[in-house]
Amino acid sequence: MTALTFNQAAQQAAMHISESKRMVVLTGAGISTPSGIPDFRSPNTGLWSRDDPMEVASLSAFHNRPERFFNWLRPLAREMINAQPNPAHRALSQLEQKGVLKAVITQNIDGLHQKAGSKTVLEVHGSMQELHCLSCRQNFPVENYLESFIQKEEIPRCVNCRAILKPNIVLFEELLPMNIWQQAEEQATQADLFVVIGSALEVTPAAHLPLYALEQGARLIINTFSPTYLDSRADLLLPFDVAEIWPEIVNLLG
Ligand code: ZN
Repeated sequence: MTALTFNQAAQQAAMHISESKRMVVLTGAGISTPSGIPDFRSPNTGLWSRDDPMEVASLSAFHNRPERFFNWLRPLAREMINAQPNPAHRALSQLEQKGVLKAVITQNIDGLHQKAGSKTVLEVHGSMQELHCLSCRQNFPVENYLESFIQKEEIPRCVNCRAILKPNIVLFEELLPMNIWQQAEEQATQADLFVVIGSALEVTPAAHLPLYALEQGARLIINTFSPTYLDSRADLLLPFDVAEIWPEIVNLLG
């Protein structure tokens, strides 16, 4: 099989989407790299070159060494809060408005799909937009803590009980949020077209979601540069820049 050109690939993707009634997307770090966000879990980014992720980004690190945990988190939080959605995020938001795209399931914690206007976003690894009190179970928007946490470099504490707040992101040693995960499984099972964007499908259980869709007969499109374990089962591979191909696909759909 000869590789498709950018235009051919975009046309085939548009054809699959126009034939779909329930398109569901799974996004990973690759959709946010054009927005300047490093990959939270990848061992290859600068984030992990200084620190062992298990030592800083785990639940026990949060409990045992909160100072170090928040020192690790702070630059990442800063980047995510300032980051803006790119053309790929905006294209997905447009596809939802057209009624084609039913849900975005994302492994990202940056909130950029919502910033781009997407409504149905299932954040299976949680979100940097909220902080959670493990004692009184309340959530607080990260905006309330920008000055103390980001600028004054303090550890964020609950206004009610003074407990240290945990960012609502899934740390190492933590389970995925059950309710969100169940919705993600449901969406994958009901999809007739499942599209993977910017995820190498290496982090489980999110990497299994396309299988739920395939088992129900859905078509599969994979838009990454790196190979995935499901490439041979995909109807279409898009080894192209996410921020270039998605606006083109939306254009073609008219
Ligand atoms: Zn509290």
